[in-house]
Amino acid sequence: MARWRERSWWGWGWADEALDDDACRRLAETSLRPWLPIDGSVLPVPYDPVLPPPRLIPPSIMQEAFAADSTARASHAYGKAFRDVVRALHGRLDHPPDLVCYPRTVPDVVAALDWAEAVGAAVVPYGGGTSVVGGVEFRGDGPWVSLDLSRLNRVGEVDEVNHAVRVQAGVAGPALEAALRPHGLTLRHYPQSFEFSTVGGWLATRAAGHYATGPTRIDDAVEALRVITPQGPVESLRVPGSGAGPSTDRLFLGSEGTLGVIVDAWLRVTRRPTEKASTSVRFPVYGQGVAAVRAILQEGLRPSNCRLLDPVEAMLNAGATDGQARLLLGFEGPSAVLLRDALTICAEHGGAAADPTDGGAGATAPDGDQRTWRSSFLRAPYTRDALIRLGLIVETVETACTWSRFEALHAAVTAAAQAAAPARVAVVTCRITHAYPDGPAPYFTIITPARRGAEVAVWDEIKAAVSAAVIDAGGTITHHHAVGRDHLPWLDRQRDPLFTDVLRAAKRTLDPRGILNPGALFEQPPTARP
Ligand SMILES: Cc1cc2nc3c(=O)[nH]c(=O)nc-3n(C[C@H](O)[C@H](O)[C@H](O)COP(=O)(O)OP(=O)(O)OC[C@H]3O[C@@H](n4cnc5c(N)ncnc54)[C@H](O)[C@@H]3O)c2cc1C
Repeated sequence: MARWRERSWWGWGWADEALDDDACRRLAETSLRPWLPIDGSVLPVPYDPVLPPPRLIPPSIMQEAFAADSTARASHAYGKAFRDVVRALHGRLDHPPDLVCYPRTVPDVVAALDWAEAVGAAVVPYGGGTSVVGGVEFRGDGPWVSLDLSRLNRVGEVDEVNHAVRVQAGVAGPALEAALRPHGLTLRHYPQSFEFSTVGGWLATRAAGHYATGPTRIDDAVEALRVITPQGPVESLRVPGSGAGPSTDRLFLGSEGTLGVIVDAWLRVTRRPTEKASTSVRFPVYGQGVAAVRAILQEGLRPSNCRLLDPVEAMLNAGATDGQARLLLGFEGPSAVLLRDALTICAEHGGAAADPTDGGAGATAPDGDQRTWRSSFLRAPYTRDALIRLGLIVETVETACTWSRFEALHAAVTAAAQAAAPARVAVVTCRITHAYPDGPAPYFTIITPARRGAEVAVWDEIKAAVSAAVIDAGGTITHHHAVGRDHLPWLDRQRDPLFTDVLRAAKRTLDPRGILNPGALFEQPPTARP
């Protein structure tokens, strides 16, 4: 029988995988003291959240679909951003949901929306709750319901003829891949949050997987969608491609729960790769690596992994202590030939491939840098929570820009983060996570100490400074973390106002009372009362 595991209500992932107090202290001693002034005290994990009584009573016809207990409500109050974890650790649950609703069927979703409209409650769709942009957190004053789709969790038909799968919104990454594996198929979509995030969440946020090039965003996999709006269902046609006017799917992809509840989708799948080859490449200067990545993409090569780590990132997460940058490079398919071509380009830009005897230069098994990177990548969210308990602010900022803007953007974001950090002490690292022929998607990690209790205020200042730096330098406010509530002011500076009006018009048509995720993606009038 499968072991029951409890998910952490305040932090990332499984409760039993969080670092305990001793492990936090060891982390402080071994990895942090040389870099940052920290006192080594550990913020305790809160137990039994205390919440005000719910202001809503579940409808009698579907009472069993609702939960009103404090743990369910507290665990749906926030996503998993730094800001969320630190507030939960301090026991600060600003606007917890009054109720959590777990629909099991599409008619349940319809009934929940009808009921919410009738009683004037806001509804925030919730997939895996891994949002890092305030996407699942209601910040208004009125009553609200978190609509948790995790029980809408069936993988339907696997269509081997047409290489597609029909899947419900609440299915998380591992369950979907487990259903596809016996057919030799894969969705090939692996965001870092893969274990807990859901199909509905990926579609609603236009998530990007960890493949660095080629089809990596979930949009590429969408064949058709079914969405329940307060005005009724909207379904798109299942075809391999269509030029029939603006796309129905595109309206709902990235709509972040504001236009409707995505209940299921047909997604394109592909054969599992049989051949892989990978290595890591050292670059004495980060800029050489950047030039090599650009050349690889512009030569038409499409590596599955093409992560360029700056020297500090390489040291912290790949165990590289030689002060050089690292490019983690991998191919699928006729991989050995492609890898050889990419390594030739790297050599032209001053890059040296890892020793073949350590699994490098074309080996099918990952080398030491890649192995260390992979395990650190998978543990990173748990480590992040430990750093927060140790009194550090840990924020990640991701964007994309053209190659010609990258150097200035990199300098501006680094300078803005350092200037906004308390006492100007911050570790700022950069890795390129995704690469396109016309530009990279850089991902910055910012770590800085903050006075206990002042973490959110300091985070707000850093977030404002780096967001302004990103958009002033010509980057998008988000490459794949979505908009939610935290990125909205910056998106409003980038998005054409006329287009925002178009979205508002769509919102008024589909959700005239404004019950769906108010405050996310675009400002809306407060929830209408019946
Ligand atoms: C440690 C960590 C790593 C991450 N790595 C990545 C990454 O590699 N790539 C990436 O793209 N993102 C990443 N994210 C961000 C996050 O995982 C993605 O945004 C993900 O797509 C959210 O999926 P979810 O199921 O958890 O959705 P939730 O967080 O529950 O919801 C996200 C948004 O979608 C809406 N929503 C959810 N389900 C539905 C639905 N069925 N219908 C309509 N609206 C819905 C919600 O209302 C909310 O606005 C990461 C987050 C964390 C904490």
